[in-house]
Amino acid sequence: MATENFDVIVIGAGPAGYHAAIRAAQLGLKTACIDAALGKDGKPALGGTCLRVGCIPSKALLDSSRQYWNLTHLFGEHGITASNPAIDIGTMIGRKDKIVKQFTGGIAMLFKANKVTPYYGFGQLQPGNVVTVKQHDGTTVELKGTNVVLAAGSDSIELPFAKFDGKTIVDNVGALDFTEVPKRLGVIGAGVIGLELGSVWKRLGAEVTILEALPDFLAAADAEVAKTAAREFKKQGLDIRLGAKVSKADVKKNEVVLTYTDAKGEQTITVDKLLVSVGRRAATKGLLADGTGVKLDQRGMIEVDEHCHTGVDGVWAIGDCVRGPMLAHKGFEEGIAVAELIAGLPGHVNLDTIPWVIYTEPEIAWVGKTEEQLKAEGTPYKAGSFPFAALGRAVAMAEPAGFVKVIAHAETDRILGMHLVGVNVSELVHEGVLAMEFSGSADDLARICHAHPTLSEAVHDAAMAVSKRAIHKAN
Ligand code: FAD
Ligand code: NAD
Repeated sequence: MATENFDVIVIGAGPAGYHAAIRAAQLGLKTACIDAALGKDGKPALGGTCLRVGCIPSKALLDSSRQYWNLTHLFGEHGITASNPAIDIGTMIGRKDKIVKQFTGGIAMLFKANKVTPYYGFGQLQPGNVVTVKQHDGTTVELKGTNVVLAAGSDSIELPFAKFDGKTIVDNVGALDFTEVPKRLGVIGAGVIGLELGSVWKRLGAEVTILEALPDFLAAADAEVAKTAAREFKKQGLDIRLGAKVSKADVKKNEVVLTYTDAKGEQTITVDKLLVSVGRRAATKGLLADGTGVKLDQRGMIEVDEHCHTGVDGVWAIGDCVRGPMLAHKGFEEGIAVAELIAGLPGHVNLDTIPWVIYTEPEIAWVGKTEEQLKAEGTPYKAGSFPFAALGRAVAMAEPAGFVKVIAHAETDRILGMHLVGVNVSELVHEGVLAMEFSGSADDLARICHAHPTLSEAVHDAAMAVSKRAIHKAN
């Protein structure tokens, strides 16, 4: 078999992999990128989980369902009424599929424009930086790279008693493609996917029950943010049951009977569809042939150092298959950093300033540490917050729920975290990211002019509240 040589071979064309490939090609390196995924039409689709069955399709459905919810629940306040509002699920899913096709096709075009050679099939790293690709047409090709970047991403974790059947018990893939609104949707796991996709189907009329094993809601978020979000979700009718340990999921005809135990003892509920969203694990099955020297940690993630290097000469790993948050934009940055390191440039990702966003209504976002983390580590801090209910723009939009909180070091005033819940906070959180990347203080943020009336004024007032000088609320 003839072997084709490349400077860089990337396995996986998700957010991490396609960023690495395009940036490497921009830097003049001969680059190949391999991806095994097929789209709904059975044709190769680049872009990974994010573009096919993750970030983008979920946001398309969140947006469609939000429009419907606003029409049926919010517009009345503005004096707007509509008779017989209805939603056509086929049209909504079709719109989502069109967006997915546009963006997965867009990656193929970007590869072409940047001279990245795509290979469509399953890639396996062999010893000596050789990669074999089992292509969809049944043929195998062999590539050799001076550098190989592993960007295999992640897969849904399956529960042994609730195996995915793609119809009644589903993961994100199935829950993004229901053909009708389930009357009763059960969700196991009140994490990011459970809350986002639970919200989509709740807004469209499903009765949604979310069973969460932990006693605390959104334990990774700031406790006040989590409390505010939980209150708003309850108002919307999302039934979130905490401390619920599910032990059985019996599929009977077209229903699932779930058995779980919580503080009240053993309980059962019956649902029409079950979404299992209990986390994701690195997709390393079959990725590494024997003898490559690449190591996996006990969670199955590829071991890397702070520069995403595996310790094997010329082999790197990035994105969901390595440590750190499983977020598309974290993968983007690692892809770019690794390509730049390979080209001999400086490349670095600061995992301490990766923003988190949950695209529910209200949105939840944060960067940096929570008050709870700072207390636990004994760091002295001061916090200031500002409610959207006191902000002209938010009230004018009829979106008064939530607040912005800025946390700064008690002695140096350096910003240590920003925590937000409310309308459009997915955009506002970046003021915190930017300030933290520039080692900014709460005083810096407080002295920066913010346009009036905007939602970003909540960030300004929260920063002022850190030193008890907020103007629009009592300090
Ligand atoms: P992936 O996107 O998983 O891509 C890996 C690619 O590699 C896949 O295409 C796979 O087919 C391919 N591959 C794997 N192994 C091989 C192999 N051996 N040979 C060939 N190809 C291979 N993150 C956000 O930041 N914001 C969001 O709003 C968001 N929403 C999400 C919503 C849902 C429902 C889900 C499931 C995830 C969401 N995420 C979101 C997470 C985000 O999708 C992931 O963090 C991101 O896709 C990870 O990128 P990646 O490149 O590491 O891996
Ligand atoms: P998650 O880690 O966000 O949440 C999983 C939840 O399930 C946790 O609260 C956990 O305590 C709970 N859980 C685990 N086992 C359980 C069990 N047996 N019974 C009941 N509850 C159980 O995982 P996810 O929602 O599957 O999402 C996976 C990842 O995908 C996220 O962590 C995130 O990295 C990424 N994602 C990001 C976004 C975004 O950025 N907006 C959206 C979706 C997914």
